[in-house]
Amino acid sequence: MAHDHKPTLPTRCTECQQLMDSPIACAACGTLGELPADTFDSFELFGQQRSYDVDVEALHRKYLALSRVIHPDIAGGEASEQRRQALNLSAELNRAYETLRDPVARAAYMLSLAGGPSASEMKTVPQSLLGEILVLREAIEEARESGDATTLQTIKQEIAAKRQVTLEKIGDLARQMECWSGDIRRQLREQLNIIKYWNSLLEQIPVNLAEAARTGQGAT
Ligand SMILES: [Zn+2]
Repeated sequence: MAHDHKPTLPTRCTECQQLMDSPIACAACGTLGELPADTFDSFELFGQQRSYDVDVEALHRKYLALSRVIHPDIAGGEASEQRRQALNLSAELNRAYETLRDPVARAAYMLSLAGGPSASEMKTVPQSLLGEILVLREAIEEARESGDATTLQTIKQEIAAKRQVTLEKIGDLARQMECWSGDIRRQLREQLNIIKYWNSLLEQIPVNLAEAARTGQGAT
């Protein structure tokens, strides 16, 4: 989709002249990249086009490979300057990885790169959502108090399905990167706001439902 995005990578290693597929470090000779924090975006750190569709397994493999190269005990050696550099690169790599591997964080990040709005700039959700959330929250409370694990399980599946629909909307909107009008960006922000509600409801339903129901019963 984003194939016409002008690639800034790969660049050549200053030491061994090999093509580097990440500015973090040269995989061939282990030379560390020199990054000021804001030079490269998270996609560029992984040598990727800016696109919502990320191969998470490939991302993970690359993360492990780069982590090995820049591990402070390996790359840092004795020199404290190099060690500090390795630590900084490591922190940036971790941050980029956490952002790109999670589809919601990735979409939110792409939205921020495109100019927002941010969560604090736009808090809107559909009117109907808040009422729906309230009803579900009460249903969860009630089921927990009466020790009804079956109902909790049903509610959990219902919310998970709603969350999935929201996640798919987020994906559809984030894939429209090339024509990100202000309207699409606001729609994406709204869906990102909505998914927080589903996440927080799901957090109210503990993993062990039978246990939760018993605890709920005991607590009242
Ligand atoms: Zn090199």
